[in-house]
Amino acid sequence: MLLSIQKILKIFKLESELDFENRAVVGGLERIFPSWEIDARNENLDDVLIQAVHEVLAGYRELDHQARSTRIKELIQKFHAYLQNQSTQISDRTSEIPNSDRSPGRQLPTSRKNFPIPQNTPNKTYTQTKQPADSNAAIGLNAPLTVLHGIGPRNAQLLNNLGLASLGDLLYYFPRRYDDYSQLKPINRITYGEELTVIAAVQSITTRQLRGGKLQITEVIVSDGTGFLRLNWFNQPWITTKLNAGTQIVISGKVDMYLGRLVINHPTWELVEQEHLHTNRIVPVYSLSGQITQQWLRRLMYQTVSFWAPRVQDYLPEEIRRAADLVDLARALHQIHFPDSVELLNIARSRLAFDEIFFLQLGVLRQKINWQSGKAEKYEMSEEWLNQHLQRLPFSLTGAQQQVLREIRQDLISGHPMNRLLQGDVGSGKTIIAALALAAVAHSGAQASIMAPTSILADQHYRNLSRLLSNPENSSGDFLSPPEIRLLIGDTPESEKKEIRDGLADGKIKIVIGTHALLEDPVIFKNLQLLVVDEQHRFGVAQRATLRAKGNNPHLLVMSATPIPRSLALTIYGDLDLSVMDEMPAGRQPVETHVLHPLERERAYRLISSQISEGHQAFIIYPLVEKGDDDDSKAAVEEHDRLQTEIFPQFKLGLLHGRLKPDEKERVMSQFRDQQYQILVSTSVVEVGVDIPNATIMVIEGANRFGLSQLHQFRGRVGRGTARSYCLLIPETEDAIENERLSAMVETNDGFVLAERDLQQRGPGDFLGTRQSGYSELKMASLTDIRLIEKARHQAQLLFEKDPSLKNPENSALEKTLHRFWSEGSGDVS
Ligand code: ADP
Ligand code: MG
Repeated sequence: MLLSIQKILKIFKLESELDFENRAVVGGLERIFPSWEIDARNENLDDVLIQAVHEVLAGYRELDHQARSTRIKELIQKFHAYLQNQSTQISDRTSEIPNSDRSPGRQLPTSRKNFPIPQNTPNKTYTQTKQPADSNAAIGLNAPLTVLHGIGPRNAQLLNNLGLASLGDLLYYFPRRYDDYSQLKPINRITYGEELTVIAAVQSITTRQLRGGKLQITEVIVSDGTGFLRLNWFNQPWITTKLNAGTQIVISGKVDMYLGRLVINHPTWELVEQEHLHTNRIVPVYSLSGQITQQWLRRLMYQTVSFWAPRVQDYLPEEIRRAADLVDLARALHQIHFPDSVELLNIARSRLAFDEIFFLQLGVLRQKINWQSGKAEKYEMSEEWLNQHLQRLPFSLTGAQQQVLREIRQDLISGHPMNRLLQGDVGSGKTIIAALALAAVAHSGAQASIMAPTSILADQHYRNLSRLLSNPENSSGDFLSPPEIRLLIGDTPESEKKEIRDGLADGKIKIVIGTHALLEDPVIFKNLQLLVVDEQHRFGVAQRATLRAKGNNPHLLVMSATPIPRSLALTIYGDLDLSVMDEMPAGRQPVETHVLHPLERERAYRLISSQISEGHQAFIIYPLVEKGDDDDSKAAVEEHDRLQTEIFPQFKLGLLHGRLKPDEKERVMSQFRDQQYQILVSTSVVEVGVDIPNATIMVIEGANRFGLSQLHQFRGRVGRGTARSYCLLIPETEDAIENERLSAMVETNDGFVLAERDLQQRGPGDFLGTRQSGYSELKMASLTDIRLIEKARHQAQLLFEKDPSLKNPENSALEKTLHRFWSEGSGDVS
């Protein structure tokens, strides 16, 4: 419904409630007309209606009670008839569109990077003149803000501080939250705590000094004929110069209580005859900086949105809008800034959120299509060959491992490059699956590589793979010879590195295991056909593209131990096929987890001692000293000294923290693995997946400071062998004992369950870490909204089915926007 209609109906309703005594607007109903007319004309309300309102209001004062009632009712009917005649488009949708899960009062994300908008006209047209040449033409939203009335270089600079440089930036600078002042009430009906609007006349103004002149209160008493209401302003004496007794104002704010009377502190107000922008509606509240005031920005926004939003070209084809049940862009942009109702605000959000996810999905799906259309070498793992390898294992594969192995075998014989994400909780046994794939490729003479995030992990893989895949007695047959499997990490001596590079270039080396250095180094493969990336849960689409470039359309297997909820996986890994290993090897006992009171630390120490006396090892983790503090070493260093000298003098304690050089870290970790230390004191650097089956106890200090996924990763460092293992969480304060995260850890060992909760609690930005750029700039969409994501993905899939290259004319605006989204936004695909 148009805002002007809504407003006038509200006033009519109030007038009816006040029994047609001409009191809905102080000073008489006719006073509202001038401001209302501006609104109505701005919204292109039918002139007949405007005239009708004018006639009734102008003579309203003279009418008797009966006539007033009749005329007002007639008017209300006229408006209702008009509304019915109008397209039912919007009201139909109101009920169908799933609302976003945010309530209107809740804060919206404020992170901003600009969502790209089509720019079909060169800037020039708009920089030359303050008036657009052709109001219906698709406009250049990249035009600088100085094209707007009232924005000179100085104001442009102020806006720039908010990150706003162009018209498009401004239109996409969404409110941080909203104040719902759409409820209009007579003073005698208001109650404590309500947010509302009152129309009243100023009765008296007084300013008093309090606390020896430190505090100045300006009290304004207003009345609307039904009662009196007090308004307070603190230290704003200039209010007195703006208001006079008799001034008719519209007041919005939250009703408070002072000395038993209802008051509104610091209300927003406007003159009755003004256009109501800051009161009497759902009022947008923007994030500000520096000298910009809320009211100034709101007014600028109102002008900009009213004029420009209808002129923005909607890049979404009609068909998709209809299928996905979305409003057009112009309306969405208008309603997101100046919502006419909570329903329309939600409808606007749905549309804008859809766009964000839709472009992400188009990007990842296009990537997937490109990738799948490529040709790749076929590799077969025969049953016989597989059995030979599986026989050498001290265990048999879990059902989940067998399933994933089948999927990978299919990928490898498909003739198209595998492009798969293997998700499996810590300890679910991903390595063996990767090893078999590597072996299959290497066996047929091509090269394969596995990349790990740290040298120690690479080294661990090297040992495992050598044991699994090479067989000195049978090197010519189904197994590789030791020189065909090599490790390339930072520590590798230069001479050996050179030898390895030569071996890779001439194809003698079949499998190379290493860190990222593998890809950065001047390493050239003769024939790289499979690339496995371990623990790569924090890399984006761009890095995957780089990896692929290392070979000639190699098969790619990405493994992650951080379970990612499905909604996120579809978005971030939407270009990959997904395999999930949701079963732990038999005999694995869940890690026994307890939350300890800080004063119960002694118990933790006793358990550590007893575990060590049984030949096991322990981890003790400390958080950063302070959030955002780079120096995570302090607590760990100090505690290491204290523990070593006072608590565990009989044991050897290793120390690991972020300020150690990489090779020092590696050394400490290997010494711990080789049991030269019984206890490893560490900061969160130990997080990533080392396999030390002998470690059975993990104590986490300051546990309340860690996120759930991280706690789960820490816990995954123990319980990898057959011995019973423990995880003790010690929060810093007693309150934190109740900490939800910690209880979740006690309740379950299931990484997927914990990941879902983590995502809900922290939101995707934190969940993914800062490296996942491109996803943090979502302003409207929530990556936890699986329905939205599936809807957008479905539409993106349909679109590509019908028009794979987006060459159809109706998709050309979309294609341009997509291109811009991915090249400017996150730069991930291309
Ligand atoms: P992750 O999935 O965390 O990388 P790993 O591949 O390191 O897990 O496996 C963890 C441990 O479980 C290893 O010691 C491995 O040998 C063992 N393992 C793997 N699969 C099985 C299985 N099916 N049965 C028993 N143990 C297994
Ligand atoms: Mg692993």
